[in-house]
Amino acid sequence: MASGTERPSEPPALTVERVTKTFGETVAVREASFEVERGEILALLGPSGCGKTTTLRLLAGFERPNDGEVRINGETVVDADVWQPPERRRIGMVPQDFALFPHLSVGDNIGFGLPNGHRAWWTKPTRRLRRAAAPQRVQEMLELVGLVGFADRFPHELSGGEAQRVALARALAPQPAAVLLDEPFSNLDQNLRASLRLAMRNILKAADTAAVFVSHHREEALSLADRVAVMRDGQIEQIGAPDDIYYRPETRFIGTFVGDANILPGETVGGGAQTELGFVVLSNSGSEASGQAIDILLRPEQLALKPCQDDGPDCANVISSEYYGHDQVVRVRLRSGIEVEARLRTEVVWHPDDPVDVIVLDDGIGLARENQ
Ligand code: ATP
Repeated sequence: MASGTERPSEPPALTVERVTKTFGETVAVREASFEVERGEILALLGPSGCGKTTTLRLLAGFERPNDGEVRINGETVVDADVWQPPERRRIGMVPQDFALFPHLSVGDNIGFGLPNGHRAWWTKPTRRLRRAAAPQRVQEMLELVGLVGFADRFPHELSGGEAQRVALARALAPQPAAVLLDEPFSNLDQNLRASLRLAMRNILKAADTAAVFVSHHREEALSLADRVAVMRDGQIEQIGAPDDIYYRPETRFIGTFVGDANILPGETVGGGAQTELGFVVLSNSGSEASGQAIDILLRPEQLALKPCQDDGPDCANVISSEYYGHDQVVRVRLRSGIEVEARLRTEVVWHPDDPVDVIVLDDGIGLARENQ
């Protein structure tokens, strides 16, 4: 890489190396390894109980791993011999419920960990800490999160989105090496989420800090993060850019977890597979021999429909269609009985029983058969 923005000599803001955490018999996190650069946003995405929150807590120092190492800006904060408690790590936290101090103004909430070093805001407030803290930094943070003029308000006078931004400002105020966000949108109105995602991404980018956030929402992770680590049963199964994860999933679990997926049976043949929908090029085709039974993953938006002319037994049939305005999802039964979904524009509206041909628009992903 030779861009003007690269920082060649800088260690990653966060380095996690083969970290394992067990609770009794439960392996909550198994040999997790990843790095996050300054200015980068990483999402930990996975179903409930897969170890996302535990990973975040290991980074913050609320849990101690059984094995492995965590480095912050290249400095080891935990391994077999080293242990730095949370207040000594340069980490900011935005908890799920934001945990603003109800009796402190917005300005005092943001300034709570200031000005002397990185005092942890989650320690109990004392009179000594409640003195006016670094007004200039508080002002900078209010500007960063777009809440100039809110300094004297109290948490109960804020909307959910504003409270989230105050919590973010508080976490960023001491200039942490990384900020950790636990399900940052779960307490917010569904309609607000999409607009707040972009606002949060812009704030994190402007702050130029590393960020790790936990989510079980695929759209949230794909739209907010630079890279997504998909976890399952305590393990990171794949880590990559959102479009890698979405269009080049390495496992069936990832393919079906991160987006709607059609799975079609097929047989390998020269760089692709023969399926009921014809020959499909496989973007992950390797050197496998022809004639192997394989499954092919195609996203609903990779399929198109056209009217089937003869209305005969070779046609597929529309089963249902859901119209959303901006697009529609049409469910189709193929001749074999397999059902697929196509996500389509709405110039043509499809109706149940319409005879159709299904066209594959893009390369598919080959997945090993599960029972092989
Ligand atoms: P969710 O999305 O539901 O919050 P998660 O992916 O964040 O789930 P974790 O909270 O990290 O998952 O939990 C991972 C596993 O570790 C789960 O099986 C959970 O029950 C277990 N676990 C987490 N914390 C503890 C604890 N303090 N004591 C015992 N088991 C725990």
